[in-house]
Amino acid sequence: MSSSLIDRLEADHVLPADAFLTLLMQQTPAVQEELARRARAVRERIYGKTVYIRGLIECSSFCKNDCYYCGLRRSNQNAQRYRLTEEEILQCCAEGWQLGFRTFVLQGGEDPALSPDCVARTVRAIKKRFPGCAVTLSLGEHSKDVFQIWKEAGADRYLLRHETASDAHYRRLHPAQMSLLHRKQCLWDLKALGYQVGAGFMVGSPGQTKAHMVEDLLFLYELQPEMIGIGPFLPHHDTPFAREPAGTCQETLFLLSVLRLMFPHVLLPATTALNTVDPHGRELGILAGANVIMPNLSPTQVRKKYLLYDNKACTGEEAAESVAQIDRTLQKIGYSLTVSRGDPVI
Ligand code: SAH
Ligand code: SF4
Repeated sequence: MSSSLIDRLEADHVLPADAFLTLLMQQTPAVQEELARRARAVRERIYGKTVYIRGLIECSSFCKNDCYYCGLRRSNQNAQRYRLTEEEILQCCAEGWQLGFRTFVLQGGEDPALSPDCVARTVRAIKKRFPGCAVTLSLGEHSKDVFQIWKEAGADRYLLRHETASDAHYRRLHPAQMSLLHRKQCLWDLKALGYQVGAGFMVGSPGQTKAHMVEDLLFLYELQPEMIGIGPFLPHHDTPFAREPAGTCQETLFLLSVLRLMFPHVLLPATTALNTVDPHGRELGILAGANVIMPNLSPTQVRKKYLLYDNKACTGEEAAESVAQIDRTLQKIGYSLTVSRGDPVI
């Protein structure tokens, strides 16, 4: 039964909703292994055994939003707030460039002090000082005009997880001022402007059902993003979801493999959250079909302040200083890091 569903998924890249639901209900180790084996084969046909790296620079922990799951939400009075200056960001890039990073991801809360012009200036400065690099932004929801200013400044990619494609579930995760419709509109605007776009969702977020996940898969199929970020939900002690259970490594791996079969060319990271929930999350993610990792390039003293969730993996191996060590870990499972911008293979 599941094997014929996997055949269909590999051939058609999508399933009807009821068939997706059936597949998601069958998360046995045998099905998981079969999915991962097929996902690896598809990924190796297109990307070989190479893994792309992106340097993550957490540029601001200020946020005007109040997402119930996130430690940076504005109601969290205990969050430590900081904002990197342009010079500090360029310094992070310089260190990353030395280490072989050719993509820099500027991620942060929706910080009103990071004006459109200020971000555009920083993007221009990075592109000028590091010719040939790619700049990815992940700075939340903005107007199409603002996205356009950043595109014209040289930004190549934008990561904006849709978080959940279900209206009812979106309401469970966000206060009334935020809107799924607007978030989805941002993704369509980014596409129209020519960005490489990344969407995605948390696995195991409070109230999430398998039916919601099917909606996520079908929304992603409609959007056809170049990148997809998924990772387990992890509780943060100073949020309304402090006592909610975390998403699992196993379910995240299952979905990574499903996504690889749906989107053979997609750039799919094994995320920090996956590495936080399981110390081998990164390798397991790669073995499930992921082909990107995003080590942390932020200055060491701010890493602990950018706390979306508790127990964030942000020392030792997670940090960019140990790129060589990450490479060694990957080589043990037959993969290796590559120095490149890491654009999707079309
Ligand atoms: N402010 C921007 C970017 C920073 S948040 C934005 O929201 O798009 C980046 C991602 O972190 C979010 O999209 C969300 O999926 C994830 N995240 C936030 N809190 C989390 C938590 N408690 N557990 C796991 N992932 C979380
Ligand atoms: Fe802000 Fe992003 Fe956290 Fe929501 S998930 S509170 S938008 S940083």
